Amino acid sequence: MDLAFTPEDLAFQAEVRAWIAENYTPALRAKMALSKNGYLDKEGQVEWQKRLYQKGWAAPDWPVEYGGPGWTASQRYIFNMEISAAGCPTPSPMGLKMVAPVIMAFGNEQQKAQHLPKILSSDIWWCQGYSEPGSGSDLASLQMKAEKTVRDGVEGYVLNGSKIWTTQAQWADWMFNLVRTSQEAKNQNGISFILVDMTSPGISIRPLPTLDGPVEGQQEINQVFYEDVFVTAENLIGEEGKGWTYAKYLLEFERGNAYAPGLKNALKKVKRIAAVEQAGAGTLIEDADFQRKIAELEIQIQALDATEMKIFSGLSSGKSVGAASSMLKCKGSEMQQAISELALEAVGANGVPFVADSWAIIDGRSNDPFPVPDYAVAVAPAYFNYRKTSIYAGSNEIQRNIMAKMVLGL
Ligand SMILES: Cc1cc2nc3c(=O)[nH]c(=O)nc-3n(C[C@H](O)[C@H](O)[C@H](O)COP(=O)(O)OP(=O)(O)OC[C@H]3O[C@@H](n4cnc5c(N)ncnc54)[C@H](O)[C@@H]3O)c2cc1C
Repeated sequence: MDLAFTPEDLAFQAEVRAWIAENYTPALRAKMALSKNGYLDKEGQVEWQKRLYQKGWAAPDWPVEYGGPGWTASQRYIFNMEISAAGCPTPSPMGLKMVAPVIMAFGNEQQKAQHLPKILSSDIWWCQGYSEPGSGSDLASLQMKAEKTVRDGVEGYVLNGSKIWTTQAQWADWMFNLVRTSQEAKNQNGISFILVDMTSPGISIRPLPTLDGPVEGQQEINQVFYEDVFVTAENLIGEEGKGWTYAKYLLEFERGNAYAPGLKNALKKVKRIAAVEQAGAGTLIEDADFQRKIAELEIQIQALDATEMKIFSGLSSGKSVGAASSMLKCKGSEMQQAISELALEAVGANGVPFVADSWAIIDGRSNDPFPVPDYAVAVAPAYFNYRKTSIYAGSNEIQRNIMAKMVLGL
């Protein structure tokens, strides 16, 4: 692994920095400062993702033939590092990073032509229909029924059941679903992977409130109900009954993210807060105990960074990370939580008023100034929001089971 940047890499880094300076506008930055989870509202997300698209940078990991930029591993690393260091919004992953690789690997030409260009340009928005009430970790027990039928001469399936914890379902135009096409086959074998247009009659969405506060534009998860929803057979990905294989392929992309660049930026924010928060006669950053906590996290981030560089520099684009993705997911999510805890410790009592007062201002229901310093507004919501990271994308206990089996052979 060669970590030294070449002159071409350094020129690329300068180009990325210049582009961010021009395109990460003051309006987007102001919205992002109030984000609890690294995303903007849909309008902001679309604006940001379309700016990336216009530059040809919407999908750093996609192969060139589908519109990827054809970057080297170090260019991808530099891009992620610069985007995270500047605190830019996270592109919504369900289209670009989840369903797109599945369509590329297992979809037919018609499905590729229909969906990939619009995913790349952020003209269609996706959500993920895996989990059901009663089927989360034990995903293969899922019950949503897809019964074969012919309607008005068109072959298809009728879907009945419910999906839950569906992130951004309220924004989505399409949903990729795991459904049961056979009741007889053994658990995994009866599952198929199907794409569903969210405007299909019979779909309804119920928002699920979360601990971090009910705020317009930042609604995150939902339950989606299917009542006799007809989906044409052309929306089936690959073969009927092979959905489990495609689902697992997708999960490696969902979990195979680089965490270190974002963690570095999050810790930098904590340091900025600690430099102004008072502790005794000085500021918190001068406190020996707080310095020790920062140093411990910095060391762990450096170790994770080196591990991620080693893993990602070994991959050519389009390949998945394999079982290493479980390790990155566990470590990365634990550190996201640890940093959000330290941020909450740093703002102290200023973290308290977020529910009643700050959200009313963010929502536009109140014109009062924030009751706490600006830097403290999103800290408590982010702390509560980040409890999710060790649960979603397969809980950390499940990731440890995967590592025990696939890496340690237990
Ligand atoms: C914020 C958020 C967003 C999400 N977004 C989506 C989405 O967009 N689409 C989607 O399909 N799903 C989504 N999920 C669902 C997520 O994938 C599930 O919550 C997760 O897989 C855990 O399933 P569960 O909630 O049913 O918990 P359960 O499976 O009931 O687990 C409960 C507890 O038991 C532990 N446990 C379970 N089985 C084992 C085992 N075999 N060994 C050891 N421990 C075990 C778990 O680790 C957990 O602590 C989201 C979840 C969250 C929190």
